[in-house]
Amino acid sequence: STETHSKTVLVTGAATGIGKAIAEAFCNCGYNTVFADINLGEAAQNAKRFQHASAITLDVTQEADWQTATTEIVERYGSLNCVVNNAGIGLPLNIEEIDHEHWQTILNVNLTGTMWGCKYGVKLISQYGGSIVNIASVLGKRPVANVPAYGASKAGVINLTQSTALWCAEQNYPVRCNVILPGYIRTALMEKALSEAINPKELLKHFASLHPMNRLGTAEEIANAAVFLDSERASFITGSVLPVDGGNTI
Ligand code: NAD
Repeated sequence: STETHSKTVLVTGAATGIGKAIAEAFCNCGYNTVFADINLGEAAQNAKRFQHASAITLDVTQEADWQTATTEIVERYGSLNCVVNNAGIGLPLNIEEIDHEHWQTILNVNLTGTMWGCKYGVKLISQYGGSIVNIASVLGKRPVANVPAYGASKAGVINLTQSTALWCAEQNYPVRCNVILPGYIRTALMEKALSEAINPKELLKHFASLHPMNRLGTAEEIANAAVFLDSERASFITGSVLPVDGGNTI
């Protein structure tokens, strides 16, 4: 039918990788789905394949973009029920190499961007009911040596998720807020790390071996968890930290 579905989701960083897979999974579960990204071309390409999907330019670090996007979504679909804060960046720079610009850039996209997503998510979803799903990383819980800014940003996302969950529960808002910790997933982010490695094959084997299940995860496996967390089946789950990591954080 040409009528819109009853639930609407906004996914950030939906041009590629995990965000693209998450947005596609919500499309397949009958949501009106908004593919949001700084890369509008790719996002629009992805959205075109689904009837109840659209693409929007959204730089998660810009509050004005959130204001415009959320207003447009409610005008178009009549509600906003879920925000998935997936957009993120992660380049390695150890504590001796780190500089202010690197720190600011990583924290700005990963943590500040997720903060805006939570703020505007709460503002809209408290009116329509639904949930916020944040994408952190196993590195936010279990740090490694060479990505201090990334790890700190993701630890911040975990804490931000839980304070948002508490606030919504205390206000009696119909909004749950949860965070997924993906293990190592084969995406553009991973390809970049591999391409810069001296021995990519060894590095790939190494990444697989970090998971007791001895393989990398897939973007679809992260998407399944995101769809579950927003579903009615997760109706008593808020503030939870869900590793989807083949056992990495055990
Ligand atoms: P990716 O690089 O493939 O995709 C990231 C997307 O975010 C891109 O489409 C990019 O254009 C978009 N983006 C970047 N900055 C943005 C901004 N300011 N505003 C809006 N969009 C922006 O990365 P991915 O591997 O799919 O990662 C997605 C999320 O999952 C990230 O938060 C990442 O930290 C997290 N994660 C990834 C892995 C992994 O192994 N790939 C593991 C753990 C966590």
